[in-house]
Amino acid sequence: MKFEEFPFDKKTLDAIGALGYETLTPIQEKVIPIALSGSDVVGQSCTGSGKTAAFSIPIAERMTAGKGLKVLVLAPTRELCIQITKDMKDMTKNRGMKVVPVYGGQSIDVQLKKVGRADIIIATPGRLLDHLRRGSISLKDIEILVIDEADRMLNMGFIDDIRKIIRATPEDRQTMLFSATIPRPILQLSRKYMRNPKCVEIPKEVDNPDIEEIFIQIREDEKFKMLMFLLDSEVPTSAIIFCNTKTLTDTLAENLKCQGYDAMAIHGDMRQAKRERVIKKFYQKKLTLLCATDVASRGLDISDVSHIINYDVPLDPENYVHRIGRTARIGKKGNAITLLSPSGHQAMRGLSVVRRHVEFTEVEGFNPEMYAPLDPKLHSKGGIRPNKKRGRGRRKFSKGRRNFRGKYIRYSP
Ligand code: AMP
Repeated sequence: MKFEEFPFDKKTLDAIGALGYETLTPIQEKVIPIALSGSDVVGQSCTGSGKTAAFSIPIAERMTAGKGLKVLVLAPTRELCIQITKDMKDMTKNRGMKVVPVYGGQSIDVQLKKVGRADIIIATPGRLLDHLRRGSISLKDIEILVIDEADRMLNMGFIDDIRKIIRATPEDRQTMLFSATIPRPILQLSRKYMRNPKCVEIPKEVDNPDIEEIFIQIREDEKFKMLMFLLDSEVPTSAIIFCNTKTLTDTLAENLKCQGYDAMAIHGDMRQAKRERVIKKFYQKKLTLLCATDVASRGLDISDVSHIINYDVPLDPENYVHRIGRTARIGKKGNAITLLSPSGHQAMRGLSVVRRHVEFTEVEGFNPEMYAPLDPKLHSKGGIRPNKKRGRGRRKFSKGRRNFRGKYIRYSP
């Protein structure tokens, strides 16, 4: 269905048009009419489905600027919080609404100045509770509460915080809850705090036919070499390489840099300002490879990441869905490559929850001799810094491999 066929206000249609959206996504078709009617809604949807617009469009339609804080959106991570703020601003900018993000890591004084004038607050639970304790934010006039990525909030231990926050809002508010899965505590939360919510379910993203998924079995000590082989043969325009630990993210990025690739790391131990700088570079296509922990797997709204590479199999199977959801965003094709070493088999069993049938791809043309091994001592903090001219191992193994194009058989689900 086209947006113009919907009886939206001209301001909303203009904002949607400026974003270049023409057709509603399935979750938008289902959620928007319910949200506009004022009913509570539970949206079981995955990342990349267009769910932010599914709640920001009705909010823009129903709310007016300058009436005080009426809308609260809760998100699990800073990155998602920043992303939703941007989307919400885009959607409400021609209505003069003030959208303010509230998240940890940013100076509370800066936030204190802004929150007083907010019409809409997008918050992570911890920092919002700080403000509630200080009395700098009051939720007593909230009319719409959105809880985004509720399952992630649960996994991150925010469930009690969320209960506290809900209790600080009026009972007659409208509540919209979005979650990729609905585990029991989330179901209980919706039963306790929502009024006859209408449930909307959108198929799991893991079935997205636009994502070509391949799984490669590889020895642990050859993973890094395989990664370089894949980067050389696939030549991704923009890729996120996921690792399970912050240290590995850092080590991998430094090793890749040493081998002449354009890579940077992003993880939770980095200062917020640095993280934002890295994300910006990646957004602006000034950085090709982002080595990330799962912190970056949600909330990054980059529509044309060509490749997701799971250097490590995610420990939580749900994260697999979220990771690969960074590619093949609406209307685009994407590749998701998962490297599986024997030590990753345990995690792989978990993966069978979301990916019932896994077939391995035989990689042809991979010659480990042509690549440098991973140097575990290379990492940015206190590690050995790559020497731009005579970097350790640089070029030594890479001679001739730039023009090398391997072939391997692909597996499409
Ligand atoms: P989300 O699931 O909210 O993170 O959205 C995923 C991506 O889809 C974002 O890049 C949105 O800008 C984009 N998007 C959302 N709705 C539409 C639409 N109706 N048409 C095209 N792109 C959309």
